[in-house]
Amino acid sequence: RFPVICIDGPSGAGKGTVTWRLAQALGYQLLDSGALYRIVGLKAFEAGLITADASQVIDEMAVLALTQSLKIAFVPNNASGRVDIIVNSEAIGEQVRNEAVGGYASQIAVFPKVRQALLKLQQDMASRSGLVADGRDMGTVVFPDADVKVFLTASAEARAERRVTQLLNAGQTADFEAILVTIKERDDRDENRSTAPSKPAADALLLDSSNLDADAVYKQVKQYCQD
Ligand code: C5P
Repeated sequence: RFPVICIDGPSGAGKGTVTWRLAQALGYQLLDSGALYRIVGLKAFEAGLITADASQVIDEMAVLALTQSLKIAFVPNNASGRVDIIVNSEAIGEQVRNEAVGGYASQIAVFPKVRQALLKLQQDMASRSGLVADGRDMGTVVFPDADVKVFLTASAEARAERRVTQLLNAGQTADFEAILVTIKERDDRDENRSTAPSKPAADALLLDSSNLDADAVYKQVKQYCQD
């Protein structure tokens, strides 16, 4: 079997960057599992199965049927430092990365049947080559026998601050308090759901990136992989 490195933790902790750099350095594939949940969330929203304010009772079987109808593929994009997502042969744009879609993703991610439907697709990615997997339950559920498990955290404030900087750099406006509320709501839903809650595996290495820049995080994680 090929080596698997899991990078789990809440959004904004820096998982995406470190996952990409590791995959490049090691010549491994990259699994952006959050993108899978984001696509299902976006499609469910477009189909009227969920609402933005999470007020609607969701029909799990309808979301499951939708999930099963999607053929999802990932293609690495060196220019953006992320994977491009192809769904039913159609490229999904950057909109899937915005905070609203993150919220849709966490609404549908509570459903065991939906998670089960995405499980094999994720596990199959480790059958072709080494893999760096980014998510919430990579080390606990999807790859319990992984070679290295890292749980990357940062305070909600540090993560909100990074998000503000990102938005301002992209020429957009940003409201720190509003972003902080959204981040805490999503953390709460992800950490307290009954199936595959976001938490470190018993054998995960914990790294708090609140006071570390991306280079320092990468160096530390690379060190874990060599130990
Ligand atoms: O990591 P990202 O922000 O892209 O994830 C979006 C959402 O998808 C998370 O807030 C979480 O609800 C869900 N997710 C999950 N399990 C994963 C990855 C993401 O439940 N392995």
